[in-house]
Amino acid sequence: MPAIHIQQVDASCTSLTIANIYCVGLNYSEHIHEMKSQRPDEPVIFLKPTSALRSQPETLNYPSHLTQDMHHEVEIVVALGSGGYQIPLDKATDLIAAYGIGLDLTLRDRQSKAKQQGKPWAVAKGFKDSAPVSAFVSADQIADPQNLSFELHINQSLRQQGHSSQMLFSIAEIIAYLSTVFELQAGDLIFTGTPAGVAALLPGDQIQANLENKIKLDFKVQ
Ligand code: MG
Repeated sequence: MPAIHIQQVDASCTSLTIANIYCVGLNYSEHIHEMKSQRPDEPVIFLKPTSALRSQPETLNYPSHLTQDMHHEVEIVVALGSGGYQIPLDKATDLIAAYGIGLDLTLRDRQSKAKQQGKPWAVAKGFKDSAPVSAFVSADQIADPQNLSFELHINQSLRQQGHSSQMLFSIAEIIAYLSTVFELQAGDLIFTGTPAGVAALLPGDQIQANLENKIKLDFKVQ
């Protein structure tokens, strides 16, 4: 089963088997603007299959049989260490085991077509290797999840920059909301949305994403 690695405060490393992968769309206003979308009044949720996860890849194959327009979306990723249903907002962050950085890779051509036709996003968002993630850092090392900066560099140039204070729905609000719909489980991952600057990736691109300039994801598209 797919798993992530968590760096603990004592520098030991544990692994967490992944249960579900939830993703939030349209959670940063400048990204909503660039997508010409409307500001949502509740979180926009979609899922990826766990088989989409790639933990700390060194290379990733461009799915040229599926798309000619694969976009990067850099996002803070939250891993849950425990679950529950109908979690109160003030208890929501208690569920978090760890934080990492990841890419919600998106086949934009397929997503645009699906949106026009009112069809689901499963192919556009859930294809093999569409969820590369870093090693994670345990939650006790993150003082305030709404005070985290993150970046994406491609071939050494800065392409996306975000700060969790700019989220429309906070991480606690996302967890509480998800738990009104789904029964959350230990090992669930939540991709929390991308800031502005999404664009196409090409074979040969070197991807470097970081959270707080500490937690890093570094791989090449081939
Ligand atoms: Mg996204």
